Amino acid sequence: MAYLEYNTADISEEKFRREVTSVCPECIKVIPAVIEEGEGKIWLKKKCPEHGEYKDILSQHPEYYKWSQNFWAEGIAVDQDKRCVPNTEKGCPWDCGSCQRHKTTPILTLIDVTNKCNLRCPICFANAAVTGNVVEPTFEEVVKIMKHLRSLTPYSNVAVSFSGGEPTLRSDLPDMIRKAYELNFLQVMLITNGIKFKNLDYCKEIRDTGLQTIYLQFDGTTPETWEQTRGFNLWPLKQRIIKNLRIAGFDSVVLVPTIAKGVSDDEVGNIIQFAIDNIDIVRAVNFQPVSLCGRIPPDKLAEMRINISDLIHMIGEQTNGVLSPNTFYPIPVVAPMANLITWYTGVPGVDFACSPDCGFATFMVLNDETGELECITDYIDIPEFFKISNKYWDEVSKRKDKFHRFETIAGGINEFLPFDLPFIKNIGKGLDGLHEQAYKRYVLARYFWDVLGTIKKTGRGIQSVSKILTRTSWDDVASFMYDTLMVSCMHFQDLYSMRTARTERCIVHYAVHDRRDDKVKQIPFCTYNSIHRPLIEKAIAVPVSQVEEGEVLTMEKEYKEIEKEAAAPIPKE
Ligand code: SF4
Ligand code: SF4
Repeated sequence: MAYLEYNTADISEEKFRREVTSVCPECIKVIPAVIEEGEGKIWLKKKCPEHGEYKDILSQHPEYYKWSQNFWAEGIAVDQDKRCVPNTEKGCPWDCGSCQRHKTTPILTLIDVTNKCNLRCPICFANAAVTGNVVEPTFEEVVKIMKHLRSLTPYSNVAVSFSGGEPTLRSDLPDMIRKAYELNFLQVMLITNGIKFKNLDYCKEIRDTGLQTIYLQFDGTTPETWEQTRGFNLWPLKQRIIKNLRIAGFDSVVLVPTIAKGVSDDEVGNIIQFAIDNIDIVRAVNFQPVSLCGRIPPDKLAEMRINISDLIHMIGEQTNGVLSPNTFYPIPVVAPMANLITWYTGVPGVDFACSPDCGFATFMVLNDETGELECITDYIDIPEFFKISNKYWDEVSKRKDKFHRFETIAGGINEFLPFDLPFIKNIGKGLDGLHEQAYKRYVLARYFWDVLGTIKKTGRGIQSVSKILTRTSWDDVASFMYDTLMVSCMHFQDLYSMRTARTERCIVHYAVHDRRDDKVKQIPFCTYNSIHRPLIEKAIAVPVSQVEEGEVLTMEKEYKEIEKEAAAPIPKE
C-alpha cells in the first residue's frame, strides 16, 4: 500500500458511502455511523439505540469532499511505552491519554495554564466566571508536562503553546516561556485574546522571554462583529494591540478568527486583507469554524454548521478568486514530504498525518516584480509534487531501518572467534553508515530531479520551497514562513461531527497533569473539549470563593476596565 493513497476511484464514485464510528451527542456512547452522499451534500448519519437518530452536514460540496479523501496519510505513532492509558472496552474516544490505538504524534501541544479570563465571551462556557471554579496547574506541574512532551519518541514534541482561559493572567507566564525554551522546544507559542498587550510594557516583557509566535483571537474588522462574538466592540483595542506587538518587535502573529454563520462569515476576505496589510508581523491566518454544543434540533444544526468546503468557497468569493477553492490542500498532503526531509537531514520530525477533514492550508507568496501576493500553486504543480514526495517516502519507509547488513555479518564473524573483537562490529557499523549515506544521496538526487519537473515558474515561491526541501535546521523552516502568508483552517470536531477515524489521528493535543493518578496525559484537542475536560478539571478545580479575594477582584476589575475602554471613543493617532 502506498504511504499516501491517491484513491482516484473515490472521485468518480457516483455516491460516496463509508461506514465509520462516532458518538451519541447525548450520552457520548460509541456508536456506528455512516458518511453518505445525498441531496447534493455529504452527510454524517448515526443512530443511538437510546437517543435516536442524528444527521449532520460534513460538506455542501461533494466533489471537494470526495477529492479530499485521497489524502489520508499514515502517521508516526508515539512509542508504546510513552502512552499511559490502556485500551478499554469503552473504546476511542474514551481512552485518551494517549492509548495504544493512537496513530500519530502531536505536532502542537497546548497547556491550559488557567481558566481565568479577562473577557466574558458569549460563546465561552469554560472560563472561571461561568463555571464558578478556578482551574490552574502549578508551575511545577507545567514543567513536568513539558518534560514529558520532550521525552516522546520517536518524534519528540517540538511545539508547545500556552493557552487558557487567558494565559496572560498568570504572573509566572514569562517564567514558563523561558522554561520551555530551556527545554529546547523549537516553537513556543501563546494563544491569547491579546487584551494584556494593550500595555506596551507588557508586550516588551513577553518579547524579552524570546517568544515570537502569538496566536491572536481575531474575529473581524468591524465593531458589529466584535459586539456579537465577544460582547462589546474590541476592534479599536485589537488594532492598538497589533501596533504594540509591532513596536515590541514581534514578527510572527497568527490571526485566529472563529467563524460563525451570520456573525463573522462575511469577514473572511477582510481578515485576509488585514493580514496582507500587516504582513511585516502577520505570518498566518488560521480560521476556526465554530464548534457546536448543547442540544441542537437537526434543522438548526444544518443552518449553523460551517464546514471546511464552505470556508474554502467563502475565501474564494471574498478574495475575488485570488485564493480560489483549488488552491487549498488538506493538511496531511505534506506528511510524506515532512517525513522524507526528516529522514535525510536528521532534523527533528513533525507528523502531519491528521485526517483530511481536520483542516487545510495554502501559502501566498510576494511576487518581487509586481509587488502582488500570489498563491504558491502558481509556482508549483502541487498534486504532482506531493505524488512524487509520496512515492519516495513510500520507497524510503520500506528500507530506512534496514541498514544493518554489515553489522550482522561482522557480528557473525565475531561469534566464531575464540575471543571478542569489538572493532569488527564497529567496522560493520561504519560500513552500514556509509551504505545509508550513499542511499540517502541517491534518493535525494532522484527526488530533486523529479521535483524540478513540477515547477511552473521561477521566483520567490520556488526559492521558498527549496529552502524547505534543503533545510538543515528549523531556522530554514522559519525563513519559509517569513517569506509567505499562510491561510489555513482547523475544523475542530464537536459531539455531532466526531468520528474516531479523526480523533485517533489527532495531531493537536492538550497535555495535562491528571492529579487523580499523577500521570501526564496527552489528549486530542477535540476529545478534551467535548468529553474529558470536565472530568480532569474536577480534580483540580477550586471554587472561586476559595481563591484569594484579591485575585478574583483583579480579574473582575480588569474586565470592567476593558469594557469601559472599549466603549470610549477611538483616540486620535
Ligand atoms: S483519540 Fe487517540 S488517545 Fe483518545 S481514545 Fe482515541 S486513539 Fe486513544
Ligand atoms: S484537534 Fe481535532 S481537528 Fe485538529 S487535528 Fe485533532 S482531531 Fe483533527
